[in-house]
Amino acid sequence: MKWSFKLGTVAGTEVRVHVTFFILLAFVALQGMSGGQGTAGALDAVLFVTAAFVCVLLHEFGHVTAARGFGIRTPDITLLPIGGVARLERMPEKPAQELVVALCGPLVNVVIAAGLSLFLGLGIAWNPELFEAGGHFWEKLMIWNLMMVAFNLVPAFPMDGGRVLRALLGLVVDYERATRWAAALGQTIAVTAGLLMLLSGQASPVLLLIAFFVFMAAGQEAAMVSQRQMFHGLRVQDAMITDFRAVAPDALLRDVVALLLSGTQHDFPVLGPHGDLLGIITRQRLVGALSEHGPVHPVGGVLEPLDVQVPPRMDLVEALGVLDAATRPTLPVIDPLTGRCIGLLNAENVGELLMVRTALKRA
Ligand SMILES: [Zn+2]
Repeated sequence: MKWSFKLGTVAGTEVRVHVTFFILLAFVALQGMSGGQGTAGALDAVLFVTAAFVCVLLHEFGHVTAARGFGIRTPDITLLPIGGVARLERMPEKPAQELVVALCGPLVNVVIAAGLSLFLGLGIAWNPELFEAGGHFWEKLMIWNLMMVAFNLVPAFPMDGGRVLRALLGLVVDYERATRWAAALGQTIAVTAGLLMLLSGQASPVLLLIAFFVFMAAGQEAAMVSQRQMFHGLRVQDAMITDFRAVAPDALLRDVVALLLSGTQHDFPVLGPHGDLLGIITRQRLVGALSEHGPVHPVGGVLEPLDVQVPPRMDLVEALGVLDAATRPTLPVIDPLTGRCIGLLNAENVGELLMVRTALKRA
């Protein structure tokens, strides 16, 4: 996910924090400060939010552990103001597995709340002043965990309830339709909740932000699944550009400019004498290098290193994930046997493939 920072790695899963999370912290600190307790109030509020998000993280690791039980790894978890997002390497295919993975997150919060209740001898009683009057830290944390259970079981993506709903629907209809229905219900809930808040005149900016996030996430989930369905069984080699121009490292920038202007290709692989890939020069890099070094400068000195590449037989959906996470618009496709660059993968070409497949499906 873009706009996020890495915090560390736990059991092979990278833990990241989205920048908007810091906006939440700042907001909470300001609220704490305006509560009449000054800096102490702000510190107290920030400490609580941090503890609350440790619970969010443990919740996510509930999902991660359950997924691992089905042989699914989780490359990263991102903390957002609305909670955590564990990006599973793939979704469990069987609805029953998705159900288990979805439920294991809230289960962690149930365990934490029960633990706090037993340890502190706290009764679970709803006290609306608890969160306003700088109430008891652990009691607040226990209530927070219970709220997380309730919130996460709302049947809308990206909450676990959305996945639970999809898994249950998935028992009777196919995965794509189950996702569409679950996403539509999620968006309806988000819009209704947002409208009700606005109409009641009690709209809290945080809650409106959550409704907005939920609305976007539901749409994204549906789009992702229908894209995955469309690309099912396709590999990188089916979508890559094989008719492309490459340049030698001693070619001059003006030679690349000539290629750029004479054709539709934007990014050019730089190949060594034996066809081995040395790097890539993107249009953006080319333009930057031109203003810095002028047209008579060898490409070899300004090419971008090869940190990201994909093999031709990689699953296309997986490769699109790699492309999405990469900072450049084109990925070289490397034959693992020869080490040669045999194609280029970019979003434009994949889009064309999608158009063709959609047209064929209609025909
Ligand atoms: Zn969850």
